[in-house]
Amino acid sequence: MNLILFGPPGAGKGTQAKRLVDGRGYVQLSTGDMLRAAKASGSELGQRVAAIMDAGALVSDAIVIELIEDALEKNRGAPGFIFDGFPRTLAQAEALDAMLAAKGQGIDLVLRLEVDEAALIARITKRFEEQGRADDNPDAFKIRLKAYSDQTAPLVPYYQGQGKMVGVDGMADMDAVSASVAAALDGVRKR
Ligand code: AMP
Repeated sequence: MNLILFGPPGAGKGTQAKRLVDGRGYVQLSTGDMLRAAKASGSELGQRVAAIMDAGALVSDAIVIELIEDALEKNRGAPGFIFDGFPRTLAQAEALDAMLAAKGQGIDLVLRLEVDEAALIARITKRFEEQGRADDNPDAFKIRLKAYSDQTAPLVPYYQGQGKMVGVDGMADMDAVSASVAAALDGVRKR
């Protein structure tokens, strides 16, 4: 099962991904987590991306595509992959399709977490107060939302055109969202 969790920053992709890891043994591939780990380690890559991430902008396609390529290689044989925060541009989506096609696979489902922007800003302001993540500060978050609408939202017609996108109400409580996610996954398995 190759699943993309799709939606703007703060929509709850990470939370739902972690639940699928616990419940189904899928491997979560979060480019945001990978980049934060690189940043925290002080590696050369981490130093290169730190300022871009803190500002809320997207790092280059080449960097995240390579991270995903390596992670797929390291986790060969996993029962499923959850792509969380990747792809975020058309070039990334095309690269992912090509990587999977080379393994005789493809994306099975794109779950779109649908959220209300005003509620999202309130959610992230709270996360910033609780966790202090630099790119959750209101200025950076606005840039992240803009990056989403300019660079990532164009993926909606891309995946709709492939008949792979299913919408889920991301504003419902977490358990209700998980139930919708499970129903959508079971729908794919019956196809
Ligand atoms: P996230 O935790 O997924 O919101 O990612 C945090 C930050 O990491 C983003 O605001 C970007 O700076 C960077 N990032 C994560 N994933 C990607 C991606 N697929 N393409 C470009 N930048 C990314």
